[in-house]
Amino acid sequence: MELYSTDRLAAARRAAADAGLDALLIGPSADLRYLTAYDAHALERLTLLVLPADGDATLIVPRLERPAAEAAVGDAVRLVDHEDGTDPYAIVQDLLGDRAKTVGLGDRLWAEQVLALRDALPDARQALAGAVLRGLRLRKSPAEVEALRRAGRAIDAVHERMGQWLRPGRTEAEVAADIAAGIREAGHATVEFTIVAAGPNGASPHHGVSDRVIAAGEPVVVDIGGKMPDGYCSDSTRTYCIGEPPADFAAYYAVLHEAQRAAVAAVRPGVSAESVDAAARDLIAAAGYGAQFLHRTGHGIGLDGHEDPYIVAGNAAPLEPGMAFSVEPGIYLAGRHGARIEDIVVCTDDGVERLNTIDTELVIL
Ligand code: ZN
Ligand code: ZN
Ligand code: ZN
Repeated sequence: MELYSTDRLAAARRAAADAGLDALLIGPSADLRYLTAYDAHALERLTLLVLPADGDATLIVPRLERPAAEAAVGDAVRLVDHEDGTDPYAIVQDLLGDRAKTVGLGDRLWAEQVLALRDALPDARQALAGAVLRGLRLRKSPAEVEALRRAGRAIDAVHERMGQWLRPGRTEAEVAADIAAGIREAGHATVEFTIVAAGPNGASPHHGVSDRVIAAGEPVVVDIGGKMPDGYCSDSTRTYCIGEPPADFAAYYAVLHEAQRAAVAAVRPGVSAESVDAAARDLIAAAGYGAQFLHRTGHGIGLDGHEDPYIVAGNAAPLEPGMAFSVEPGIYLAGRHGARIEDIVVCTDDGVERLNTIDTELVIL
């Protein structure tokens, strides 16, 4: 049960052909890592996977990146390198010539590369490769679910240490620095984000951190995530309170807690993504906080921290086994405080598995 299976290239070729694309052109991104296991740096020098629907894959790399690329892809993909001062787009032209009528470009390719590819392949219509690759990445393999389970356990272990770090008199930034070290100690390769949002900052869902000193009695939203060495991401939010919470906060936290559980419980194959959003939103709205839940309920997760499927009104697509995503409703009272609870879950053959398994009650420190 290999995590990075070389079958992915064959599956991508078939999916490209089905979508009427003659080739996929993929730069450094989660798509590239998904297809080749290569975690390439996005640089001004061109790194590009050229994957014809009817031929073998070629990875174009800057000469100085060749050893790193070779180590990652092994012999699954042919490598062609280019030297500084030469035109790498001529290699794309040589590989595809005029037989490519429509090319699928990686969704995260830089505009300067998109335009250079238009000049190199003037007769080829450009489309997005994401439309094709999304379908492959959407359902996680058992090996990918296991990777996300490991990531979930790792970030849970960081939340379990919060009492060591989150204390009155410290700034959000000081606490976040300790959390970041804890994220690495728990086995992540990189820290992707650390949100420590105390008091009124908790009402801003993507606050980040500040030099604000945390006071006793303040609710604190802690949303943290990293990337494991295998590339798969963690993402989990818990809300803490240093001492007894304000009464109005405790009241809406109870609503949020129930809403998050209801949304998790709604997950099973065949139900729509938007119905999971509604399961949380209806309870929050019924309690009078509808306007204070100001974002979608969740996002998919895998090699990207945010990817399909999105758990949002308007996404009527049915959930399928292997889909992994966050369930993270929040209630935000501007100027006062806020709360969010976030677990990563995976849709199983007959229901749901939480990949974050620690308690979702308000944690009083
Ligand atoms: Zn977010
Ligand atoms: Zn999060
Ligand atoms: Zn999230």
